[in-house]
Amino acid sequence: TAKKVEKKFQTETQKMLDLMINSIYTNQEIFLRELIANASDAIGKVKFQSLTDSDILGEDSDFEIWLDLDEVNNVLTIEDNGVGMTYDEVVENIGTIAQSGSQEFLQKLQEKQAQAKDNALDLIGQFGVGFYSSFMVADKVTLITRAPKQDTGVKWESIGDGTYTIEEVDKPKRGTTIKLKLREEFTSDGDEIDLTNRQNIKQLVKKHSNYVEYPIKMKVYEENNEGEVIEKIETLNDMKPLWIKNKENIEIEKYNEFYKEVFNDWTEPLEVIHSKVEGLVKYSTLLFIPQQAPSNIYSEDFDLGLRLYSKNNFVMDNCSKILPDYLRFIRGLIDSPDFTLNLSRQVLQDDKQLKIISKTLEKKILKQLKSMLADNREQYKEFWSEFGQLIKSGVDMTHGKKQDKLVDLLLFPSSYADGEMTTLAEYVERMKEGQDVIYYITGEDEITVENMPQMELLQEKDLEVLYFFDEIDEFVINKLREYNDMEFKSVLRGDLDLDEADEDVEAEEDEVEELLEAVEENLADKVSEVRLSKRLKSSAVCLVSGDVGLSMSMEKVLEKMNQ
Ligand code: ADP
Repeated sequence: TAKKVEKKFQTETQKMLDLMINSIYTNQEIFLRELIANASDAIGKVKFQSLTDSDILGEDSDFEIWLDLDEVNNVLTIEDNGVGMTYDEVVENIGTIAQSGSQEFLQKLQEKQAQAKDNALDLIGQFGVGFYSSFMVADKVTLITRAPKQDTGVKWESIGDGTYTIEEVDKPKRGTTIKLKLREEFTSDGDEIDLTNRQNIKQLVKKHSNYVEYPIKMKVYEENNEGEVIEKIETLNDMKPLWIKNKENIEIEKYNEFYKEVFNDWTEPLEVIHSKVEGLVKYSTLLFIPQQAPSNIYSEDFDLGLRLYSKNNFVMDNCSKILPDYLRFIRGLIDSPDFTLNLSRQVLQDDKQLKIISKTLEKKILKQLKSMLADNREQYKEFWSEFGQLIKSGVDMTHGKKQDKLVDLLLFPSSYADGEMTTLAEYVERMKEGQDVIYYITGEDEITVENMPQMELLQEKDLEVLYFFDEIDEFVINKLREYNDMEFKSVLRGDLDLDEADEDVEAEEDEVEELLEAVEENLADKVSEVRLSKRLKSSAVCLVSGDVGLSMSMEKVLEKMNQ
């Protein structure tokens, strides 16, 4: 067997270790996620090998990750029965940084240091520093590992001071054990999170590794009814990555349960969108349309977004960079092996794959809403009453094809719909022969608009009018200008060009000219023009906006904004 030897770390590796050791990085707790992710990967590898080599597993075929605590000596152990490493693999994998992620990390770090930026350590959070992160919480790290079908194991040990020792040792079982001698800060005597506390370890696993697909086990001690402390083995993670299962095998109840638990909602989701994509970009996604909008959804600091996972490992919560702002009501997650565990929000912003994912998801969601509108109007109405405002804001924010899709999701109350709402397509379908504009009226509510004198002529002619009760409605329409080549025309603006008997009006005009002049003089600072109306039937007078300039309701909105 190979004797114990001392080896020097590669310069890059030592740089990395120094960083970890002197880390003022605040998120040190991620070391556990990194080590568990490595353990899970190692199990995945041996499981894969066993498909073609059935005796590789031997007796040891229940895949598990074990956590253990030695509170007396302040040692935290992470153990797996994965693929392990041979002597050469240990030297290669643990002593050097061959990996592109770490290389990139160091390069970026040097750039930052060159710029004398003091936040260089933030970079730790952005790259997969993996195994080395253990030096953030430990002052000595011991790794003992044995690959399948090897006679001996390998022990690697370092206090991170430029060298490590490596030797062959006995190790009865396949897999890797990592022992962390915790730095004092991370013990019960320290100021940092106490990693000798089982409760804390449990919480870290729940937070960062809940959906790792192999059980993460730890002994816990509980007091029974007789006041005796008994030892129990607890599985700390849920292992229910629902999103990687085939959707054909998932009942709706499971989705509902999952949604409520993971996204802390009391109510069941209105709709579930689950899909797996294989191809250039690989990912699974599980999205939910909630029944109710959170109360702060319109506030500026609303920052719910999607949750990101990488192969069941939690990467980031509330990632609002993926879906466009108008879809911010969507809850859910994306799992992609292409996300690195230490992905940062900054890196995300210019990630090409993520851009592809974003686009696809947006399309998927719009498609789902479209079919909800077509096939389940009742459900869509529920959706609309909660989130319609956001869809409207989406029309305002988008253009082109995407805008067209959003426009067809709009619902408006109308003079025809009898309390129901109509889509623009349905309105157009009902249009009268010769009608070439879409009429709308803005106002407070149905009673107000229906009693407006401007509505009289349209009612008489049996022309349908859309009701805009939302302040944003008219902004949206202004942005659109037309639908299916049909312009939107406000009933409150200028003349409606409905074929009136013009001669009659002219005749009357002569008679009332003096009256009009008198009124105009009197109201000179309040109205810009007084004219004889072609549209009124029984009302004596009405106020309209000019053909150009602000409409009355927009004036109101702007007035409000100035207050
Ligand atoms: P990464 O996991 O991102 O590759 P690490 O520095 O964490 O980077 O690990 C480097 C390599 O060491 C891994 O790619 C893997 O080959 C090996 N390794 C780490 N932990 C284990 C483990 N528990 N079992 C087997 N191999 C491991």
